[in-house]
Formats: sequence, C-alpha cells, structure tokens
Amino acid sequence: VAMYAAKHAGGGRWTWYDPIMDERADTDARLGADLRRAIARDELFLVYQPIVELPSGRPAGLEALVRWRHPEHGMISPAQFIPLAERDGQIIEVGRWVLATAMRQIADWQREYGADAPRKVSVNVSARQLNEPGFPDEVAELLATIGLDPAKLVIEVTETAVLGTGAALDVVRRLDELGLKIALDDFGTGQSSLSLLVDTPVSWLKVDKSFVDGVTSDSPQAVILDGLIGITRGLRIQAVAEGVETAEQAERLHRAGYRFAQGYHFARPMPASDVALLLDGPRQREARQSQLA
Ligand code: C2E
Ligand code: MG
Ligand code: MG
Ligand code: MG
Repeated sequence: VAMYAAKHAGGGRWTWYDPIMDERADTDARLGADLRRAIARDELFLVYQPIVELPSGRPAGLEALVRWRHPEHGMISPAQFIPLAERDGQIIEVGRWVLATAMRQIADWQREYGADAPRKVSVNVSARQLNEPGFPDEVAELLATIGLDPAKLVIEVTETAVLGTGAALDVVRRLDELGLKIALDDFGTGQSSLSLLVDTPVSWLKVDKSFVDGVTSDSPQAVILDGLIGITRGLRIQAVAEGVETAEQAERLHRAGYRFAQGYHFARPMPASDVALLLDGPRQREARQSQLA
C-alpha cells in the first residue's frame, strides 16, 4: 500500500497518509452529512432490549438502543454511526434526541400502564456528552418538562468515557445527585479501574459479553465473572451479564450469583410497539380473569 507523508488536517502534525484511511474519511463525510438530516427526516428510532432477572427471565428494565434506517443504505448499525457521530461532534444532537425520545416513551408507558410499566429504562451516553458541563442541567430540564421520576432513568456510561477527564466524573456525580442511576457499560473492556467503583456513584455494573462468552468453559473469563460478583456484592452494586445467548450461560451465571442478565437468549431489542404488546399481556390476562369471575 502506497503511503505518503501528509499534513494532518487541522492537527498541524505530520502523519502517514493511507489511501484506505482516506476512503474511510470519505464514507464518514458522506454518512455524516446524511446523519445531519436523519433526525429531521425521522430516520432514527429507538429499540428496547429487556434486562431480565435470573433465573425467572422476568423483565427488570429495558435498554434503549438507537437505530438508523438510511433511505438508500438500509439499516446502519450504531456500532458504525455512533463512533462517527462521536468523531464529528453530532453525537451531542443525536444523544439529545435519544434521551428525549426515551424519556417521553417511559412517561407514555407510565401513563398507560401505571404499576405494570417498565421499572427502569437505560440510555447510553457517550464520552462527548459526559464532557459537556451543561449536560446535567439539560437532563434536569427534560425531567421537569416531561414530568418524569428520575429514578426511572439509568444512564449507561463506559469506563473509558468516565476516566477520560475530570469533567466527565463531575458530570456523572451531578447526574447521581439528580436521582438518576448510573450503569458502567461494557465493564472489563476499557481501562478497567477498580477505583472507578469507589469514586463514582455506580449502581449497575454491566459485565461485557466477551466475559460471558467464556463462562461455560474453564477460562480466565469465567474466573473474572465469578470474582466480580464478590466485589459488586460488597459494594452494593448490581451486576448485569451482557450478551447472554444460551440457556447454559444463563444457568451458569445464576449459579455464580448473577441476578440480572441481558441477551438474545431472553429477548432481542424490539420496537416500542412490541414492548407494549408485552405489557398488554398481563393486563389482558387480568381482564379475562375478571370476566370469568
Ligand atoms: P451496548 O450499549 O453495550 O449495547 C449492547 C449491544 O449488544 C447492542 O448492540 C445489543 O443489540 C447487543 N446485544 C444484546 N444482546 C446480545 C447478544 O446476546 N448477542 C450479541 N451478539 N449482541 C447482543 P447495538 O444495538 O448494535 O449497539 C451497539 C453499541 O452502540 C452499544 O453497545 C452502544 O455502545 C452503542 N449505542 C447504541 N445505541 C446508542 C445510543 O443511543 N447512544 C450511544 N451513545 N450509544 C449507543
Ligand atoms: Mg449499553
Ligand atoms: Mg453494554
Ligand atoms: Mg457491550
């Protein structure tokens, strides 16, 4: 591959120029321009994946995950466009839309289903958002406008995002003061620092799928999964196992002391209308029972 030395755009440093990187930059620029119009054109939507209790599989909460239906390219994974939005700064606006949409949805479910409504909804928040000193005020304003109980909302952050700067840590503390719950996402894959569990007001620890994948074998991942339970218990943090795909994994995690899990074995992310069907279930059963009575 031909490499040329080129001046890094804006950086003022000399770096290696790589045509493949240039192609990526090209795709990024085009997708970025499309993303700028995606919110206005209603191309983004949220899906919700249940977080369940073990061993019953009963839903304990939901995680909101963003989706983009691109008019020409079809569905684009957040694994692709979220990092892009992080790089070009659009994550601030996308994140704002995600948060407001998820909060309105929780409030709607609350109005419609009352005590049967999902107890908690988790929203992923990126490093850039956490570095906006105004972010907690924005969240407070949304809570007030929508009239939502802050205890219904869980903010998922990664270790790397929190450890990035002191500003992020400060924002996390202020979110906690607002009455929101904090979850550490993808735990074990970033710059895992146990002091983070001491210094931040973490309520949930989401242990990354890469550990869960190894739980049924005699692996270092299984040893770590077992060890983390002791740590979270002592610190009164709830552990959630991410990416559980088999009954065998679920069973092994339950035996290790995990009370919560998330993964395709239990449910895939689904549109809000399917969540409503789940919530309608118990209600319709009740209605039938009262008709019989
Ligand atoms: P995450 O927050 O760790 O979300 C979990 C991801 O794992 C989701 O992928 C989910 O669909 C997937 N997943 C759940 N169970 C299983 C399983 O059993 N097997 C496998 N293979 N995968 C499973 P998704 O929705 O593609 O999102 C990918 C990542 O993109 C998320 O990882 C999160 O980091 C980011 N993301 C998604 N939505 C948002 C958002 O609204 N805002 C921000 N900032 N990031 C988001
Ligand atoms: Mg997450
Ligand atoms: Mg996760
Ligand atoms: Mg993960």
